[in-house]
Amino acid sequence: MRQRDLTAFRKLLEERREELIHEASRTVDGMGENREQFPDPTDRASLEGNRNLTLRIRDRERKLITKIDEALGRIDDGSYGKCEECGSDIGIERLRARPVTTLCIDCKSLQEAQERRRIS
Ligand SMILES: [Zn+2]
Repeated sequence: MRQRDLTAFRKLLEERREELIHEASRTVDGMGENREQFPDPTDRASLEGNRNLTLRIRDRERKLITKIDEALGRIDDGSYGKCEECGSDIGIERLRARPVTTLCIDCKSLQEAQERRRIS
């Protein structure tokens, strides 16, 4: 991959990472604010539901942040953009759509087909 593209992907990943951390910290603040506003038990139950949702979102964000960190690590060690299964180029278009991916479209399709077979 060209240096120019690598720099662009690094920027994109770092921006996405910033956004996620920002969102995550805002979610935590929101949880604190709402705690005293629902004295009624019914409302408290729905607040608990919201809180579970919030925790799930944060879990998802945390996983994505880890993936972004790994992708940034691959940019550093020069393996970014290579499929971890077959070693071929993942392709700029696919990386633009999903910058944290580690598989080329062929290996991804294969993996999904195998997962479907395992389930059925
Ligand atoms: Zn591959």
